[in-house]
Parts: sequence; structure tokens; C-alpha cells
Amino acid sequence: MPDPSAAETWSPATTAVTAGRPPHEPDRPLNHPITMASTYGATGDLEYGRYGNPTWSAFEEALGALEGGRCLAFSSGLATVATVLDLVGQGATVVAPRHAYNGTVMQVADLEARGRLTARLVDVTDTEAVAKACDDAALVWLESPTNPALELADIQTIARVAHDAGAYVVVDNTFATPLRQRPLTMGADVVVHSATKYLAGHGDAMLGALVTADDQLYDVLKGRRDLVGAIPGTLEAWLALRGLRTLHLRVERAESNARDLAERLRAHRAVSEVRYPGFGGIVSIVLDGGPDAADRLVRSTSLWVHATSLGGVESTLERRRRWKSEPATIPDALVRLSVGVEDVEDLWADLERALEVVDT
Ligand SMILES: *Cc1c(COP(=O)(O)O)cnc(C)c1O
Repeated sequence: MPDPSAAETWSPATTAVTAGRPPHEPDRPLNHPITMASTYGATGDLEYGRYGNPTWSAFEEALGALEGGRCLAFSSGLATVATVLDLVGQGATVVAPRHAYNGTVMQVADLEARGRLTARLVDVTDTEAVAKACDDAALVWLESPTNPALELADIQTIARVAHDAGAYVVVDNTFATPLRQRPLTMGADVVVHSATKYLAGHGDAMLGALVTADDQLYDVLKGRRDLVGAIPGTLEAWLALRGLRTLHLRVERAESNARDLAERLRAHRAVSEVRYPGFGGIVSIVLDGGPDAADRLVRSTSLWVHATSLGGVESTLERRRRWKSEPATIPDALVRLSVGVEDVEDLWADLERALEVVDT
């Protein structure tokens, strides 16, 4: 175990490598093993497999240290979203970005259709409109940058207004990762992650997580996880922690690749719009030739993989509106690029070749 006083001053890169390790002792492994257990000897802290697992705890300790709170892991990002949305009372008002992750918007719409809550969908870039929508709200959901529109919210200002209205503030930090944004320091009550994406980072595990610095909220949310059972798989938690060890390296490389590619794409005549928030590894482009050109682009690459999801070491792309549930306010010809950690010249050569096909 690192010296706790030194650990407090360490940079996130060092925390990513060191947090969630067993104590440094002779013959102790450097990593927590995968503990496969559905039950434990009685009268301890764990008791049963749905209440806790040492492998989950190791991942939770590491992500908690990076975000600055206590973490709970879940079976997926959307299982986490469902658990957090369930914080509000029957019929309560929830403010959410109209361009939040599609699954989140669909959950909110489903809950509204069943009379569970009232939804107010907002443009997160319009701080004044979001502030107005916070009136009487029980929960304000933010995502910044949004997926796939890459819009940014003024989290600090919105959190202040939302708290004045007595609402919880939740930030989905999947795109930014704790290395680029720490929402708990900006006023959020709960941070949510699809750990499936950057945190795990290798396209081989599904996992979700939340982090909060509020002990009472932690207890409520842990109680929900115990009761509903949306618990992570042990292997998935282990894979995500293994992925987390290199988060800083992967994010740095993906970001430098993305920055470089965004600039080159801006100069390409087949591309009418490039959206890049200035950090992170996601770039959205709109093809001048419309949805057909976008469909041709995703079929014409060889290094870039045509696939949904994002945040892995491998570069992927997809036209988002191929999903029927994606809102009509997302351009039909928008292609989301999840930039990986390959060599940027290889990525550009492949993309440029595919854009030539589209352009002719
Ligand atoms: C993928 C994603 C989710 C959902 O996570 P799953 O692990 O796929 O359930 C939530 N929010 C954002 C921003 C995402 O990209």
C-alpha cells in the first residue's frame, strides 16, 4: 500500500498505476487476484457475492481515487444510469441533455412514458436555458462532452443553480475521463462512467461505475445495487482495473492523434463539419455528400473498424443515425470517430484513402 500521505500529492498518472493494490509485503502479489466467489464465510463484511467482492473493491478503490470519492461498480454503464435515475421520487422532474448518450435518453423517455418521472430535455450548451429548466427539478443529468454531438456544458454554473433548486447533479464523465475532468470538484454529486469505454479501454469488457463523495448517497446507491443486483462480473472488474493502469498513456496518445486528425479533416473538402472539443479522443465529422457518403466512408476503411462503441485502443467509426433511436437533431451524415492509439500517419492514410472514395 502506498504511503497515504504521499499518495495524496501524486498526479493522476501515478494514481492510475498505484491505487487499488494489495499492501507491499513479501510474497503478496502486486495485483489483487480474480476472486471467484458467490458466498463467503459468515459474520464478516461481505457475506454473499451480491454484496461485495475483493476484485470489484480493487477497481473501485482505483477509480474512486482518480475521481475523488467512493466508487461503486455495476454490470454496465446503463445499469449505473438506471440505478442513479432511480434516486428520484415518483413523478419527479429530471433535466437531461437532448443529446446525451442515446441509451440514457431512451431510459429517461421510457421512465416518462410509464409515468415514473417528467423529463425536461435541454441543449447543454445553453446554460441559461438549462438553469431555467432546473426549477423544481429533482435531478439534473449532465454529459460533457455529449455523445456524439461533442457539446460542452458549463458544469460549475449549472451545478450551482441545480443545488439552489434542491436537485442532485449527476455528470456522465465517460468521454472526458477523470484525467481531463473531475466533476466532483466542479459541484457534481455523482459521477457516472461507462467503464466499458476508456477506463477498461480494450473492447473486451462491459462495466459501469459511479463515484460520489457523499457518504449518505453512497449508502443509498450501494443499497440499490445490493437489492437490484446489477453487479459487475469479477473478470470484467479485473480487466477494467488492468486497463486503468495505462489510462493516462492511452488517453494522451488518443488525444494527440485526435487533435492531429481533426486539423487534417478540417482541411478536407469531403468534410463539411468537424466537431472536436479540444481534448479527448473522439472526433465527429459531417460528410458533405450526405448519409450515403457517410455509409460509403465507413465501408471503405481498412485500419479503422466499422463498429459502434468507443474509447478502445483500436480506432473505430460509425454513422450514428444508422441507429433509429438517435435523435433527428444529430446530422444524418455525422460519423463519429473513436481515435485509438495506433500510429497517426497510418490512421490518416487509411482515412484519406476512404475519403477519396467518397469524394468521387
Ligand atoms: C456507452 C455509454 C454509456 C452506456 O454504457 P454501457 O457500458 O454501454 O452500458 C453511457 N454513457 C456514455 C457517454 C456512453 O458512451
